Amino acid sequence: MAAPPSHHTHRVIGIIFGPPGSGKGTQAARLENELHVKHLSTGEILRAEVARDTPVGKQVKRIMAAGDLVPDDLIVDIVRRRLPEAEEGTGVLLDGFPRTVAQADSLDEMLTGEGHAVDFVLALTVPEDELVDRILRRAALEGRPDDTREAVAERMREYRKLTAAVLDHYRKRGVRIEEVDGTGTPDQVFDRISAHLSS
Ligand code: ADP
Repeated sequence: MAAPPSHHTHRVIGIIFGPPGSGKGTQAARLENELHVKHLSTGEILRAEVARDTPVGKQVKRIMAAGDLVPDDLIVDIVRRRLPEAEEGTGVLLDGFPRTVAQADSLDEMLTGEGHAVDFVLALTVPEDELVDRILRRAALEGRPDDTREAVAERMREYRKLTAAVLDHYRKRGVRIEEVDGTGTPDQVFDRISAHLSS
């Protein structure tokens, strides 16, 4: 006899991880279609708040322009509000969150509360000099206020000081970590990611 259909579909929770300029946003947008997961980018959410000049936007505008991280409780509140809706589909790909170990602890707590957990971390690796080149090239195209030389240097410092440790947090917990070479064209990187995730 065939097994009865499961009513409990497992939702995939993935994190796309990497330093500023590593192409997280670009790849996450593609993976949204490929994996049928909702792409949740905290950077995009914050930029939309700034553009709409909301109270949150007013609070974070200068912090972001300087390349600093916004306070943990502020970003955790945003994710806590958005996650349930994003999880209604087949899963979520988090981009830009968690960025500190405290944020990772908060995320683990949120997910445990619903019987979920982080399934994988996709970490893009790109040498630092190429990261800076990429961001400064993007600056000319998109004019993001945090793509100035000073703000980029600060974002790299924050990444090394606070964000890099997030990978160790998940490694210690035995979460599947896929490190993917993020150099080359977006298509080449996407092909590498697909190969990693399907194996
Ligand atoms: P990038 O990875 O290229 O720096 P993002 O779009 O992910 O770009 O983030 C842009 C900025 O938004 C960060 O420099 C920071 O100021 C703010 N930000 C985004 N996500 C977070 C987060 N999880 N915690 C703190 N600040 C964040």
